[in-house]
Amino acid sequence: MAKVYREKDVDFSVLQGKKIAVVGYGSQGRAHALNLKDSGLNVYVGLRPGGKTWNQASEDGFKPVTVAEAVKDADLVAILVPDMTQAELYEKEVAPNLKPGAAVLFAHGFNVHYGQINAAKENDVVLIAPKSPGKLVRQTYTEGRGVPCLLAVHQDATGKAFDVALAYAHGLGGTRAAVLTTSFAEETETDLFGEQAVLCGGVTELVAAGYDTLVAAGYQPEAAYFECLHELKLIVDLIYEGGFARMHEFVSETAKYGDLTRGPRVVDGHAREAMKKVLQEIQSGEFAREWINENKTGRKNYNALLEKDLKHPVEVVGKELRSHMSWLAGNQSACQTGAAQAQDQAACATKQAQQQKEKETASVR
Ligand code: NDP
Ligand code: MG
Repeated sequence: MAKVYREKDVDFSVLQGKKIAVVGYGSQGRAHALNLKDSGLNVYVGLRPGGKTWNQASEDGFKPVTVAEAVKDADLVAILVPDMTQAELYEKEVAPNLKPGAAVLFAHGFNVHYGQINAAKENDVVLIAPKSPGKLVRQTYTEGRGVPCLLAVHQDATGKAFDVALAYAHGLGGTRAAVLTTSFAEETETDLFGEQAVLCGGVTELVAAGYDTLVAAGYQPEAAYFECLHELKLIVDLIYEGGFARMHEFVSETAKYGDLTRGPRVVDGHAREAMKKVLQEIQSGEFAREWINENKTGRKNYNALLEKDLKHPVEVVGKELRSHMSWLAGNQSACQTGAAQAQDQAACATKQAQQQKEKETASVR
């Protein structure tokens, strides 16, 4: 079993009184900056002047400065801008201003693992990857909880890299849940594989293929939508709460028998072979090269694929059906502006309370 680090393992003094630069104030950056500040640390936010999030950082009580200024004299620099902008920003604004002995921290290992960022050997290079979107990193912290984090050390120039990374995770609230050690390679490769084969790519293709199969056989698109997409959440919630066993407890015997005998025929040997190939492309760096190149050449292929994905009939039918369910997250603005009907507003309130409860319990499961 992997060792789990918790609050008692932390030497917080390695960061107390030190200058911490948080570069980027988006999903992760905002949550990190606020949590670290509330944990008593000395946080500077580095951004490009005139950018969208500059004002947000000011409203939250920070005095944002340029990236170069934030990095100067910093003891730790957290790189929390989008992955595809990190390498250039690092080369132009971070590296020339970074003091020897400072730690550079990432929330995802992509650029370090695939050699896009090579820090000077006088610097520590560490990873703290919270296993959740920034919004929950902040919310759980304010509730006295935290989200689990992965920790990795790529380069230990000072002999303190691990302690510094663990103290950072502590400042985020991560040690209230669990901090697990990994490597940059494992974090990057498993993260990419998960999102490609299962979480984003795999699930959407499965939904679309199921929907297409039913509609092509003459069933109503609305019925196909409910069976293949809408109900997915109910099943995923059960699996999230208690694995396959809990899902099996709640579905019918007929559903279970169909699952056990038909599921392996759909996600069959061919699908497993395809997963292996996808993993190999991640491990060899082929996927990374392709994605970096796509970004350097104007994202033409990516944009075309995205447009096609969003035009799939399940999206069109879904949009219409969901517009009548004002309590769904995508319709929250309708809930909030009171545009919903009275009975819908009651449903909105119930749903929001439910979602709040789900988020609260998510971190302790
Ligand atoms: P975001 O897309 O939310 O980051 C946006 C921020 O980056 C904004 O403040 C933006 O400023 C700033 N920014 C963008 N380009 C530049 C630039 N050239 N110079 C200065 N600032 C810039 O990123 P995320 O928070 O999603 O991701 C940050 C890191 O965290 C990534 O490594 C990601 O893989 C990792 N991560 C993300 C998770 C998530 O849930 N989102 C989960 C776990 C890890 P402006 O207002 O000027 O545009
Ligand atoms: Mg897809």
